[in-house]
Amino acid sequence: MNRKKLESGDIKCPDCGKKCRSTEIAAAGAKVKGWRCNCSYELISPYEIEKAYLLMLAKKHEKVKISKRGNSYMITIPKAIANAINIEKIKAAEVFLNG
Ligand SMILES: [Zn+2]
Repeated sequence: MNRKKLESGDIKCPDCGKKCRSTEIAAAGAKVKGWRCNCSYELISPYEIEKAYLLMLAKKHEKVKISKRGNSYMITIPKAIANAINIEKIKAAEVFLNG
C-alpha cells in the first residue's frame, strides 16, 4: 500500500473493532497525521514518526548564530532544523522578527 492510500484511508481499531478516523495527532510537540478511535485508541502514521522525531530534535536548537559578511548579516541554520524541514528541497525562505 502506498503512502497516500494509507494516510487517506480508514483503519480498523485493534481495541474495539470500529473505524478509526484519519486526523492530526499531537506527538513530540508537533502535529502529525494519524488515526483516532472513539474509544481513545490513537495511531501515528509510520511515515510521520520520523518527522515528529526530527521536529523534536530541532526544537532543542532554536538559537542560531548571526555573523556579518560585508553589509549583510548571515544566519546559520542548525543541522537539526535543516533535517526537520528537509532543507534540500527549499528554494527560498522568509525571515521575520519574533518579539
Ligand atoms: Zn476503538
